[in-house]
Amino acid sequence: MTKKIALVTGGMGGIGTAICKALADAGCTVVTTYSKSGKEVQWLADMKEQGYAMHAYLCDVTDTDACAATVAQIAAEVGPVDILVNNAGITRDGTFKKMNKVDWDMVMRTNLDSLFNLCKPTVDGMVERGWGRVINISSINGQKGQFGQTNYSAAKAGMHGFSMALAQEVAKKGVTVNTVSPGYIGTDMVMAVPEEVRNKIIAGIPVGRLGKPEEIAGLVTYLASDLAGFITGANLAINGGQHMM
Ligand code: NDP
Repeated sequence: MTKKIALVTGGMGGIGTAICKALADAGCTVVTTYSKSGKEVQWLADMKEQGYAMHAYLCDVTDTDACAATVAQIAAEVGPVDILVNNAGITRDGTFKKMNKVDWDMVMRTNLDSLFNLCKPTVDGMVERGWGRVINISSINGQKGQFGQTNYSAAKAGMHGFSMALAQEVAKKGVTVNTVSPGYIGTDMVMAVPEEVRNKIIAGIPVGRLGKPEEIAGLVTYLASDLAGFITGANLAINGGQHMM
């Protein structure tokens, strides 16, 4: 994938970092975004130490104008985006009885509105150039629902509706749009869960362990490749058999 430019939102998180490294290993020029200023200094230094030359831009994925401006800046400074990985995401859990509108809106805006905000300034260019990849990182909980996550489950399920519709609109132009739905992955977020709770989660996963960020990154890299040109509008589960469809 030499010469391809990949934009990974939220690329400094647990799964995002693995995706950035895997795409770079595959030859892409990798650009990532972050929303909390300051963390990029250490992350870029860590990447450099590991031999990666990443690009990082401050961009809140919930801000439509900021996303358009960031993509324009990336096009001017790095080049046009060929591969877009919508990875930024948050949870704000609570039973529906206790869920407030702020937590509903934050989760919808970060996980779902962000697809509009990033695809809008990137997909037309992919279509014009006759090649592109959009990969949306959803969740097992968008496929099966999860107690305490009406907001997150709705947003993550919505991401796949978006993928299927956009996939149909751009399929003839060499652009694929897919959803990746990870199960429980051993990132800081999941490792911070008390051990006994984590063990209960693992007991419900047929392969008997948490997933690795590198396993998600491997699937994303495959979807980004030429070999995956016949896969579009798919929702690929990567969950150790926890939810089979
Ligand atoms: P992290 O919390 O480690 O990373 C999330 C990233 O999203 C952070 O880098 C964060 O950057 C970024 N982000 C959050 N809000 C915004 C915003 N408004 N604008 C720009 N960036 C933002 O999460 P994971 O790596 O664990 O998860 C990555 C994706 O995978 C998410 O979409 C998540 O829902 C999904 N997922 C994760 C699973 C898991 O087990 N970990 C399971 C299933 C799905 P910053 O800190 O700078 O805001």
